[in-house]
Amino acid sequence: MTTRFIFITGGVVSSLGKGLASAALGAVLQARGFTVRLRKLDPYLNIDPGTMSPTQHGEVYVTDDGAETDLDLGHYERFTGVSSRRSDNVTAGRIYKTVLEKERRGDYLGGTVQVIPHVTDAIKEFITADLTGEDFVLIEIGGTVGDIESLPFLEAIRQLGNELGRERTMFVHLTLLPYIATAGELKTKPTQHSVKELLSVGIQPDLLLCRSEHAIPDTERRKIALFCNVHPDAVIAAYDAPSIYDVPVNYHAEGLDVQVCRHFRLSCETEPDLSRWHTIIQRVRQPEGDVTIAVVGKYTKLLDSYKSLAEALTHGGFGNNVRVHLQWLDSQEFEKADSNHLLENVNAILVPGGFGERGAEGKMAAARFAREKDVPYLGICFGMQMAVIEAARNLAGIPGAGSTEFGDPPAKVVGLMTEWMRGNDLERREAGGDLGGTMRLGAYPCILREGSRARAIYGGANTIQERHRHRYEVNNAYIGPLEARGLLFSGMSPDGLLPEIVEIPGHSWFVGVQFHPELKSKPFEPHPLFTAFVGAAVEKSRLV
Ligand code: GLN
Repeated sequence: MTTRFIFITGGVVSSLGKGLASAALGAVLQARGFTVRLRKLDPYLNIDPGTMSPTQHGEVYVTDDGAETDLDLGHYERFTGVSSRRSDNVTAGRIYKTVLEKERRGDYLGGTVQVIPHVTDAIKEFITADLTGEDFVLIEIGGTVGDIESLPFLEAIRQLGNELGRERTMFVHLTLLPYIATAGELKTKPTQHSVKELLSVGIQPDLLLCRSEHAIPDTERRKIALFCNVHPDAVIAAYDAPSIYDVPVNYHAEGLDVQVCRHFRLSCETEPDLSRWHTIIQRVRQPEGDVTIAVVGKYTKLLDSYKSLAEALTHGGFGNNVRVHLQWLDSQEFEKADSNHLLENVNAILVPGGFGERGAEGKMAAARFAREKDVPYLGICFGMQMAVIEAARNLAGIPGAGSTEFGDPPAKVVGLMTEWMRGNDLERREAGGDLGGTMRLGAYPCILREGSRARAIYGGANTIQERHRHRYEVNNAYIGPLEARGLLFSGMSPDGLLPEIVEIPGHSWFVGVQFHPELKSKPFEPHPLFTAFVGAAVEKSRLV
């Protein structure tokens, strides 16, 4: 089958959940046996989200091939199981950078470089490059129609619609039908306006996906269809769902996949196989128990900064048939005296990834509490580094233990790494170099120690692959003194130089990992570390 392109734009307001909508559409198409790839075009000028504050932009999602991308790629991967690649996310900044570099090289042969055609060509090239014969490519355009920044992207997809033809392209527009309580009515005007906005740049949507809190009456559906020039059957309701896992099943119930198949003249007689989504919904609705896990972090005000983490913990709950309640705690709280009571009633403690000194001592205090009180502990990236420094200080008697991320401690238990191997290539980084795109990024192999808890968690595997995003590493010079006091470095890089996993064998469950396992967890395939961690929390809850 030739590859077909579905472009997803958003109107009326931001935060309508376009990423989730795209991911869910991908999932329903998969359930019909099609192969899919999802991509995102981000209109902002940063080259990538790598240097953007997690409290502003949410989490930075990292792909196997080491790209720092928008968090929507996490939704795509979790809903479809298709691993994202660097070529699945681009920003206006990167597009302009490519065009300007070409201009400097003289590639435009003296021509005047313009948004149309040079920038739009670069966007179209990005959309159609690095594909492997997928049945559908879903392209989400970030931002809201009407934003200045998205114009070149809309122009590019308009052109592609023309070039590839109606049989190979489809425009889906996600909008909102606000409910005015005093009038008791759903309002269609904002949707009409945003479709007008799209029409003004030459795009006629083929299908409207309408977010709504209330049922859309037939009269309103027909009105929207009439004013927006779409078929009434192509006005699809996207109702608020009890959980995100309901969305693919709901979309199917509203006929979304059938409309997409009709648009492309594909047969839609057979029912899609949504069984894996039904199983997940069942797990969400009828858990057999509850556990509470404290997440001691720094960006707890905007939960999007820990999107994949929260998802992976929920998946860990699916793996144990329990509901996981998260208690988001600000790590700075643990820098005050008498704050341990905040952790007294939780079944497990997790310290996630993070950057910078603020709150670091609090994270160490939380790790210490978990270590000393035998509470299950999972430290991810920064959370592993802090656990190791804490153990160095309070277990191995190295009071000057610290990280060079915060200055120049007497004992550099965590330090900046300037050279490391990626496959057969040596990667280098300068101390004081650029902050953007210069971390150890993407998937790296890790060898698991025989007989360790880590190895058992990964089902006896010798080597695993996990994704990284960090600048500092645990200094292997301290492995000896730390192992002498009861830690076990159970996962190492293949050259034996970089500590990747640490555990405490005498503890009920204490594991620190230098990588980000949350990035690879899926609802239908919970990550083994999260299943094991939540399992340990369940055990703990039975003891209290
Ligand atoms: N700040 C630490 C580093 O750069 C940890 C990063 C992280 O947790 N992702 O190594």
